[in-house]
Amino acid sequence: MTFTILFRTWATVLVAMLAAILLTTAAFATGAGAQPTCSGKVVLDPGHGGTDSGAVNTKYRLTEKEQTLKVAKRLEALLEEDGCTVYMTRTSNSQTLSNNDRYTYANTTGARVLISIHMNGSTSPSTDYTTTLFGKWRKDKGLANTVFGSLSALPAANGTGTIATRTPYSFASGVLLKSDMPATIAETVFITSDREGQLLSNGTGARQQQIAQALRVGSEDYLATH
Ligand SMILES: [Zn+2]
Repeated sequence: MTFTILFRTWATVLVAMLAAILLTTAAFATGAGAQPTCSGKVVLDPGHGGTDSGAVNTKYRLTEKEQTLKVAKRLEALLEEDGCTVYMTRTSNSQTLSNNDRYTYANTTGARVLISIHMNGSTSPSTDYTTTLFGKWRKDKGLANTVFGSLSALPAANGTGTIATRTPYSFASGVLLKSDMPATIAETVFITSDREGQLLSNGTGARQQQIAQALRVGSEDYLATH
């Protein structure tokens, strides 16, 4: 008698536990992984290219044109994974583009946002911070602020806390001023920083992926709220 009651109690508990596990599994299966979090078209503009190398880190043999393209290709993959359609102003390092080429192309795509990807330069190898630039006062500022917010969460290159920041500011670039859609120039990190140079050149691609991931979060946050 006692045994039967105990057995029934345990059986009930067991069935409840199994049901909970099955429900959890089902919730995961239909969860975020299957649901695109990015909607619409995005233009990515890897800064510089061709005869224009951009900023250079001679110690680690890094050029801004190559690094911005690496980040852009990673970001393209992440955004496409999430359901976005991505347009790239350039896809190779041999292409030289004027600002006119960049915004003219962007304006043919009907994209909702334009993210121009750059890395900053300084004569001081210890200088490193992240910032974003806006051109069209009303249209660009929201995007610049949102992308700045996600870039600000980047781990610092020295491994302690997050990267230093400079508040987004106005910059009279044709890419920003003459594009139809909200646009921002993301000065993601300083390529001339010694610490960044070490990370960007270590062969793992981890730093480039962190930067792409931060830009993904900012772009998708903006698209979801505008
Ligand atoms: Zn640049």
